[in-house]
Amino acid sequence: MNEIIRKKFTELERLVGNTPLLAIDCEYKGEKRTVYAKFEALQLSGSIKDRVALYIMRRAYESGAADENSVIVEATSGNTGISFSAVGAYLGNHVRIFMPDWMSIERVNLIKSYGAEICPVSREQGGFLGSIAMTEQLANDDPKVFLPGQFSNEDNCTAHYETTGAEIIVQLGKLGLTADAVVAGVGTGGTIMGIGRRLRTVNPDCKLFPLEPLNSPTLSTGYKVGSHRIQGISDEFIPQIMKLDECDGVVSIDDIDSIIAAQRLSRELGIGVGISSGANLLGALEAGDRIGGDKTIVTVFADDNKKYLSTDYCSEFEVREEYMTRHLKLLGVRTVGM
Ligand code: PMP
Repeated sequence: MNEIIRKKFTELERLVGNTPLLAIDCEYKGEKRTVYAKFEALQLSGSIKDRVALYIMRRAYESGAADENSVIVEATSGNTGISFSAVGAYLGNHVRIFMPDWMSIERVNLIKSYGAEICPVSREQGGFLGSIAMTEQLANDDPKVFLPGQFSNEDNCTAHYETTGAEIIVQLGKLGLTADAVVAGVGTGGTIMGIGRRLRTVNPDCKLFPLEPLNSPTLSTGYKVGSHRIQGISDEFIPQIMKLDECDGVVSIDDIDSIIAAQRLSRELGIGVGISSGANLLGALEAGDRIGGDKTIVTVFADDNKKYLSTDYCSEFEVREEYMTRHLKLLGVRTVGM
């Protein structure tokens, strides 16, 4: 790695990670609860995936797997593509993103705004799995192609082990707390596996609860069933890096309930986050039901609400009897360990 690139990585590291840990104080089914959530919107391109893109590119430059002439080619449902596009633009690498054609228009335009190329993939062309196969074909045909391979690359988990998980330990530590459980919606599984493994270095009993949409339970069934509105999670298959045997049970959350939770975080607390963050808040409450409402449960708010303004995030829904949000009062939000 030359000196110019080394300096660029040092600069990028100042723009990625080190996010606030939020304590969301609430009442759920009449019981006081606090959910701890990393506020991942506050990064270079606005999502948790900046950590992964930066980590994978640094490792790739260090090992010689990538250099200034590499073309970064990735299959993604959105945030990863946006992150690689931003990091690629910073480093000077061309980026080509394969993405299912039913993802929000904001995702498509954001990727283009960073100068990356976008290749939409229809359901007929194979959706998510088709996208991955197309990137592999390109890599076979062109030695300049660098494939981050987020669904199978362990560096995805290590990025969270080294950064997100480590930050949570320090931030909770300032309150004298250690995590009893982590909950995270699964796209690649990098977040839950990386954070979870790191938290277990201080509390070996820390529970790992991967989260899936109730209306598309890929993790509990092993294959895609139904459709859902929680963009970024449950991409139709169980990724290679997602190790269910290291986990303590799957949490399933309704997608409309998740939208309502995300809307309420924004309206009632000024925390404007995406739909998977709403799901993660509810998932953390469900984890509290399983292991005790007074336990220290952490999750992530993976991105902000701006990428969802053209989606059902902006629709109004009836709060049904069975929804968790019916029993939820948001009381306030604090930052932890700053
Ligand atoms: N939420 C959002 C909004 C995402 O973009 C992603 C990543 N696809 C996730 C959650 C899931 O994260 P991971 O891939 O680490 O499982």
